[in-house]
Amino acid sequence: MSEFIPLSVPNITGNENKYVSEAVSTAWVSTGGGFVDDFEKNIAHYVGVPKAVACQSGTAGLHLALVLGGVEASDEVIVPTLTFIAAVNPVRYQGANPIFMDCGEDLLLDLDKLEAFLKTCDLREDGLYNPKSQARIKALIVVHVFGNVGDMARLVELCKTYKLFLIEDATEALGSYIIENGQKRFAGTFGQVGVYSFNGNKIITTGGGGMMVSKDEALMERAKYLSTQAKDNPVDYVHGAVGYNYRMTNVQAALGVAQLERLEEFIKVKETNYKRYKNGLKVKGLSLLPFHEGRPNRWFYSLILDDTFPMTRQELFTYLNDHKVQTRPIWGLIHEQKPFEGFETYEIDRARDWQKRILNLPCSTNLTSQEVDRVLELLNKAGQDSK
Ligand SMILES: *Cc1c(COP(=O)(O)O)cnc(C)c1O
Repeated sequence: MSEFIPLSVPNITGNENKYVSEAVSTAWVSTGGGFVDDFEKNIAHYVGVPKAVACQSGTAGLHLALVLGGVEASDEVIVPTLTFIAAVNPVRYQGANPIFMDCGEDLLLDLDKLEAFLKTCDLREDGLYNPKSQARIKALIVVHVFGNVGDMARLVELCKTYKLFLIEDATEALGSYIIENGQKRFAGTFGQVGVYSFNGNKIITTGGGGMMVSKDEALMERAKYLSTQAKDNPVDYVHGAVGYNYRMTNVQAALGVAQLERLEEFIKVKETNYKRYKNGLKVKGLSLLPFHEGRPNRWFYSLILDDTFPMTRQELFTYLNDHKVQTRPIWGLIHEQKPFEGFETYEIDRARDWQKRILNLPCSTNLTSQEVDRVLELLNKAGQDSK
């Protein structure tokens, strides 16, 4: 019998044991200890920013990014509808309201529609206002879906023109970069704040964890302050703001330091397996979503079912599952989820179509070529079986 092939699982075969043992055996298991500093420095160096701040999760990092952007109750924040809900929940933690946008052919924010929407808004000296609600639109959250990076130069320009604080949800895109004027520009470093996630299914993991990055060092100092209970004076318990306990532990960071050592190797595996899937798909009606130019990390592989494929997505999901291959449909649209019903949307249609057509394929960094071939065999056969 063949083995179960999971969707995306951690790959912990480097220095993880060594570093975690070091943290544990020295009793530096909580939020002090050298690995947190090392992990922050190593990430900052890797993506080319002056400072990075570790936190408890990607969600916590996105929440702090909104706080850093000055997003308050009744403000509005532009978000995509086709993404993981953790990108949008923090908007509500602040009591702010999302405005949902459509995606384009690449699943990324549709910048034409975004620009059309922004043109309908009221641009004043002190910021952008929504003529419908009269609320201030303070920020925009862009998501690099599955590690794919869109036209960031254009988005940065739009955010500048319309005075929007740009937050990059780069939770799926650590290691993705594009080349700009001969230089690598990493996902997460285009906006005011970028956020990575180290949840168990992400390209590297700390079990759970996140990291904020910025070109603005002062902003990251502020992030560190807010994430550690806003201590003005840590000895005398003087606090200058409402702080958070969003710190990462040294044990998690020890895992992170070891995982980051493997990142480039993991990205190569992602690319090799992506190409193997792409070249091996021989059945009408199935294709893989392409990535943009540059060096995407190819975190998730999206299989697209078009109308000529003889099975529905649910049937294909079940067929693969019956043959011990785990896949996942793409997320439900966020503006249709219960906590987000009734919020403003702008001309959403492409996302609705994509939502029905995508199934994500196994993509772990320890996935072997034999396993890819087994998935391919099933995919190629599934089409024929149901003819
Ligand atoms: C994983 C993910 C998050 C949340 O990260 P956590 O570390 O799990 O909190 C947010 N946004 C997107 C798009 C994600 O994929």
